[in-house]
Order: sequence, then C-alpha cells, then structure tokens
Amino acid sequence: MTTIAENLQNIRTRINDAAQRAGRDGDAVRLVAVSKRVPLERLQEAVDAGQRLFGENYLQEAELKIKALGPGVEWHFIGHLQSNKAKIAAGLFGVVETVDRLKLAIALDRHLAGTGKRLPVLLQVNVGREVQKSGVLPEDAEALLRQVNELPNLAVHGLMAMPPFFESGEEVRPYFRQLRELADAFVEQGLLGQHGPLELSMGMSGDFEVAVEEGATLVRVGTALFGERL
Ligand SMILES: *Cc1c(COP(=O)(O)O)cnc(C)c1O
Repeated sequence: MTTIAENLQNIRTRINDAAQRAGRDGDAVRLVAVSKRVPLERLQEAVDAGQRLFGENYLQEAELKIKALGPGVEWHFIGHLQSNKAKIAAGLFGVVETVDRLKLAIALDRHLAGTGKRLPVLLQVNVGREVQKSGVLPEDAEALLRQVNELPNLAVHGLMAMPPFFESGEEVRPYFRQLRELADAFVEQGLLGQHGPLELSMGMSGDFEVAVEEGATLVRVGTALFGERL
C-alpha cells in the first residue's frame, strides 16, 4: 500500500503532466483533498506531507476536523448545503463551492453581514442535468449568477460541477468543457472574474487529469489520495 505522501506526490505529478499537455501552468491547479468519512489521523498525515487544502461534505464532521487541525489549513465546503445551516457553513469554511440556488446565497449573505468577511463562493452547475444531483441547470446559471453578484457579502469566484459518472474519464470531457465554456461566456459578459482569477472546480479521482486538460483550477480528489472510504 502506498502512503498518503506518495499518493500526494503521484497526484501532483499527474496534475502537472496534464497541465503541460494542455499548455497550462500546473501551479494554476490546486488539489482539494476530499476528506469526507476519512479519519482525522489520515488528514493529519496529509497535512504533514504538505497538503493544506481540504474539502468536506458534512458540516458536523467538518467542524470536528477543522477544530482539530487548527489554523494554517484551508477548508472548502463541497456538499449539499441546507439554507438553515448557512450560518455554520459561513463561519467554518473559506469557500463554499456548492451555491446552487438564490435562497441559499441569501442565507449565507445575511449571516455574513456585519462580520467584515466576504465569502468566496462557486456556483454549482448540474451539467449532466441529473435529477438526483444538486446544481443550477446550465440555462438558469446566468440568472442565478446575476442575482448572487448583487449580494454584498459573497464573491462568486467561479463554477463547480460534478458531472455524471463514467468508467472512463474521457467520457466526462464534454461536461468539463461545457462548464469551462459557460464560465468563459460569463467572463466575457463581465459577470465573472471580477474577484480575481476564474476558478473552475471539476475533476475527481477518476477523471481529474481530463478536467485539468479542460481548464480546472481546483480538482477534488478523495479516493486516489486517501484510499477507499469507510
Ligand atoms: C466525494 C467527492 C469527491 C471526491 O471523489 P473521489 O472519487 O473519491 O475522488 C469530489 N467532489 C465531491 C463533491 C464529492 O462529494
């Protein structure tokens, strides 16, 4: 069995190679270590190996880990977020990647008022139009983006997607491309990119190299880093 340090190194090499194939700079791609249902000791191992960015899906679980690992670690929320949990999420996470409806955005914005914190968020787009998945439909994304852009305590940095599952990463490519083209169109319209470099969160263990080739700036990798989840 490989160690987490070895897995990290292997994933980083694969990210850099994929970036190079696409004529991109590998440093423009950050690895989000997806640590849901992964025990704290394994996260600590990753921190010791230099990993500083983690993604969590469940608030209660995340809260414990965030407290335990302490400062110097950055956390992204990547799960489905209920509006009534917006306050907790806004306080715990550096980025919420899964804003997919106005009600949730308004709840986050309201809880941030007066804190002096402007929360970076991504809009989650349901590029595969799957009924069981969260995310705004591609054709509704522009309207949502325009509305969220009006909220003073949120800053939309980009888009996030979780495409349909395929055995081969290559089959996911059109969905990654679709997300990038959507984001590019928004940048063109002046609706995105005003808060710094555009972020595209896409790609998981089975397909992150394809995602990097298609422009991902954040890849969310769990299994390939930590092994199978419990
Ligand atoms: C679990 C999860 C991942 C990581 O999936 P792996 O296949 O284990 O790499 C990425 N993104 C989201 C939103 C997830 O829930």
